[in-house]
Amino acid sequence: LPVDLDEVISEAVDRSRLPAEAKDITIRVGGSLPRWVHGDHDQLTMAFRNLIDNAVRYSPEGTRVGVGLSSRDGIAQVTITDQGIGISPEDQERIFERFYRVDAARSRQTGGTGLGLSIVKHVITNHGGEVSLWSQQGKGSTFTVRIPELEEGQEPGEPEDGAPADDVGPRSDHV
Ligand code: ATP
Ligand code: MG
Repeated sequence: LPVDLDEVISEAVDRSRLPAEAKDITIRVGGSLPRWVHGDHDQLTMAFRNLIDNAVRYSPEGTRVGVGLSSRDGIAQVTITDQGIGISPEDQERIFERFYRVDAARSRQTGGTGLGLSIVKHVITNHGGEVSLWSQQGKGSTFTVRIPELEEGQEPGEPEDGAPADDVGPRSDHV
């Protein structure tokens, strides 16, 4: 099914607002995307929510989390950047494994199961996409998700009520 990626991202960001505010972390969304990809709305929302949730959880108070949207050669790209603790090169190779957590003692305090990123990878791969990671310890991390866009002409057509899909307008206006 066609999924509106704009809507997915704003839902994921909205759900992280509260935990972010509690740590005085600002989430900024910038850039733009062609809206449509092929897949499952709820699974994609959960995947992006996991990434944004990690960015907030593993960052100190008062920092910023950036969500960047762009598109190139028919691939939608979403980057989630934080100014957090970062991930060592050794850990970068393992964090997408199920139950893998960098620091068990610290992770007990922050909660969670170590499943988040394995689910993210699973969901994005199922959508024909890929997740990559850049990180430097003490500086922060950037997770990049790439998903193929629907080709032109594959966008959702006229809804039942006859209004062209384009008239739906930016989804953020509906919130
Ligand atoms: P949960 O199942 O609740 O997501 P989790 O956050 O520990 O638990 P993952 O999301 O899979 O599990 O992340 C695995 C580990 O990778 C984390 O425990 C953390 O050590 C590290 N990690 C993930 N994202 C970041 C990030 N943005 N910055 C620093 N470390 C991170
Ligand atoms: Mg997590």
